[in-house]
Amino acid sequence: MLKSHYCGELRAGQAGESVTLAGWVHRRRDHGGLIFLDLRDSSGIVQVVVNPQGAAAAHAVASEARNEYVLQIRGKVTRRRAGTENAAMATGEIEVVAEAITSLNAARTPPFYINEESAVEELLRLRYRYLDLRRETMHDNIVLRSRVVHYIRSFLHDRDFIEVETPILANPTPEGARDYLVPSRVNPGTFYALPQSPQQFKQLLMVAGFERYFQIAKCFRDEDLRADRQPEFTQLDLEMSFVAQEDVLQLTEALYSGMSRELRPDLQMETPFPRLTYAECMRRFGTDKPDIRYGLELDDFTELVRNTEFAVFRGAVESGGSVEGICVPGGASFSRREIDELTETVKTMGARGLVSIAFEVEPRSATQEQIRSPVLKFLGLELAQAIGINAGAGAGDLVLIVAGGGGMPAKEPGSAGRVKPALDTLRRTLAAKLNLADANTLAFLWVVDFPLFEWSDEEERWSPSHHLFTSVKPEDLPRLESDPGSALSNAYDLVCNGQEIGSGSIRIHDRSEQERILRLLKISEADARERFGHMLEAFEYGAPPHGGIAPGIDRTVALLAQETDIREVIAFPKTKSASDPMTGAPLPADPAALEVLKIRVIDSG
Ligand code: ASP
Repeated sequence: MLKSHYCGELRAGQAGESVTLAGWVHRRRDHGGLIFLDLRDSSGIVQVVVNPQGAAAAHAVASEARNEYVLQIRGKVTRRRAGTENAAMATGEIEVVAEAITSLNAARTPPFYINEESAVEELLRLRYRYLDLRRETMHDNIVLRSRVVHYIRSFLHDRDFIEVETPILANPTPEGARDYLVPSRVNPGTFYALPQSPQQFKQLLMVAGFERYFQIAKCFRDEDLRADRQPEFTQLDLEMSFVAQEDVLQLTEALYSGMSRELRPDLQMETPFPRLTYAECMRRFGTDKPDIRYGLELDDFTELVRNTEFAVFRGAVESGGSVEGICVPGGASFSRREIDELTETVKTMGARGLVSIAFEVEPRSATQEQIRSPVLKFLGLELAQAIGINAGAGAGDLVLIVAGGGGMPAKEPGSAGRVKPALDTLRRTLAAKLNLADANTLAFLWVVDFPLFEWSDEEERWSPSHHLFTSVKPEDLPRLESDPGSALSNAYDLVCNGQEIGSGSIRIHDRSEQERILRLLKISEADARERFGHMLEAFEYGAPPHGGIAPGIDRTVALLAQETDIREVIAFPKTKSASDPMTGAPLPADPAALEVLKIRVIDSG
């Protein structure tokens, strides 16, 4: 090694020791005579003093060095003079008095500060990711990621899981996103699909008798990218045989609570994780991934307003829709402009508008003058009071209401299907505005009892809520064909702070049950044979009951690192347009390579 010690590990106990260090110049201060270098390596930073008297040659090298130069420094660990210690630095009690310095490499002036956490434009950060990763926060995030994966591996190995790799050159999987395709040279005109998850392989490993499998698996989905999406991402994929839903939930909970406590003991976390059914979740929060760090739960006013003259509410109720809202404590002080902004927010989610009712006093005793609402004259005092009472409003509170009609496709603006998403967005927006979500809390919960199917207006058919290998609750099996919409599945989601961390299910392991699902999904027999024939066949060779889950590693690390964007915890992520500004990928292919693949690009856009 070119070094005897790591910079960040030196302590006062080592005073007097001779050490050889190697690292980057983090900061350099030339005091005319003495030069101070902060030398940084992967472990941290230590201060080095270079004295022109004692070490003239070293001083000459230090004079030439600039930020990010790579130096090897031999010297003696020395206690800092009393009063010059730096309590903010782990190595702040000591410094290294340089005896010899070798320059191992020079560095151009970086395009942004490495030694400051200043805001830098993302494209520039990604273009020079190797410099961005030198910065403290990014460095710490990537180290945390490694600790997360290490914790997971040892936790699962301790519980008899074995790690198995599955193919990247695979077949299309049924997670429902668009596949990335890889052309086969050997079989021109045919394509591999990069796996959206190892779902089929992990189930086949259960048929193969491994009983407990996991993998830190790369998954690929060609989707439009949002803040929490990447074209390639990492899952902890796991599967177990001879288990019920409860077993998977308990194992995953032990893993997540143990890991969070070990890696972020400073964060608050409630265990056992609360469990909510999908139905309760939708009713109370309007989403299946609620942030339960704060209240602002939904109130349903549909019955209350059934006979109102107010056309917006009545229209919604009469067409089979709903009228729901949120009570905002202290919200009566919101200005007209603030309410207009909230209205715009719910409109982007497909709501027609937002009805506001502000209570200056308790709703029960409020007069016309003490209730402020643009629609008060249509609602009348009595109904306005009743809404306030129903919502639990007190003096100074504001009730915000969204109404949506039934009887039209869920995707239409103003449809009932838009009420919940609009209120979910409103709830999150209000929480951010009022600073209600405690940043130092991890609020995990389980969502269980998902519907097996959801209706797709676009395709006019049922599609799986989770994926098509998910089993139905045994008691719902008999009415699968007669009432598919009411069937519940053995699927579950782990949610934390308003984000889905992972989904899983107990699977079908019986060929005829799997075929029933495929038929219900209107997948033709020929199609089923081609796409899932190997699964159906495997189920005929003694497939054990099995189930699993696949939490996202990127989201897990982001949560523990308290980052909102998963790109902050991925060493080399893609931009929102799925490209890499550093390597230039994706790039046009060499025409000769395409020729071999028998592929012609007909339009490059
Ligand atoms: N393969 C599923 C997914 O990626 C997870 C699972 O069912 O285990 O969502």
